[in-house]
Amino acid sequence: MVFNIQRFSIHDGPGTRTTVFLKGCNLRCYWCHNPESLKAVPEIRFIPSRCIACGDCVLACPYEIDGKTARFTSRCAECGVCAGACYAGALNLAGKTYGADELASLVLEDKDMMRLSGGGVTLSGGEPLLQADFAAALLSRLKKEGIHTAVETASNVPWGSIEKIQSYTDLFICDIKAAGTELHRRGTGTGNEQILGNLRLLSGAGAGILLRIPVIPGFNDSEKAISEIGGFICSLPAKHPVELLAFHNICAGKYDSLGREFTLRQTKPPSPETMKQLISILENLQLEVIWKPS
Ligand code: SF4
Ligand code: SF4
Repeated sequence: MVFNIQRFSIHDGPGTRTTVFLKGCNLRCYWCHNPESLKAVPEIRFIPSRCIACGDCVLACPYEIDGKTARFTSRCAECGVCAGACYAGALNLAGKTYGADELASLVLEDKDMMRLSGGGVTLSGGEPLLQADFAAALLSRLKKEGIHTAVETASNVPWGSIEKIQSYTDLFICDIKAAGTELHRRGTGTGNEQILGNLRLLSGAGAGILLRIPVIPGFNDSEKAISEIGGFICSLPAKHPVELLAFHNICAGKYDSLGREFTLRQTKPPSPETMKQLISILENLQLEVIWKPS
């Protein structure tokens, strides 16, 4: 189940890449920038500013309950028929099922661009490793074509899921949001024992890893939280670069289109001064730190 295929991406690994976003996640980070990624089923999205009030969606909706269309009610079946009828582009369905061969052929259309730029294909999400068999099938086909592969993961999955893709993955881009399990639970709904254990195993296995810390105001933007994350990273069997990603709230429109609440709508991104201060904490631990100011 895929919710987006983004071509010409420059933020998801080396070079210019095609990023495939898989739908479904088992964490619930309250700052999530891709709310359409969370559920592993298709979801209808509505962008009011594009709606021309033609009414075609209501006419197209095949679900009528008590003489009323299911449109805009909790009884919407997320079937996507109305999106097909909306020529204004106000409605669209996030979530489409592909076969691994079909998707590989699609992303390989950009093979020349990837080779010329030193790029490749990145699987992101959601949590791509919740679809580990599909991810392994897709990645193995790409590796046969000599494509560089990266996987963005929170690694909150059984180690066996990681093993399935390990030999076909050149770079693991792993989120690390908190070192302490209680803080992690507060931010994501889940403790992080499995995540930290997987990172340790992956590092010990000699995998290519880029660690990513999303810097979230009021959650982990303190000296203490970043020092603790840095301490964990230093304890890994191998050295890995660390990238800091500053929170932003430009995803608020995505929440609106799904009819969901975004609690950080008014929260400002961390200031450049805060980011520099956090970077210096990690650099003092002799870590290689990457930060791209926006
Ligand atoms: S079909 Fe699209 S543009 Fe027309 S009323 Fe429905 S959402 Fe609005
Ligand atoms: S997604 Fe399907 S059920 Fe929901 S409003 Fe559109 S056509 Fe009706």
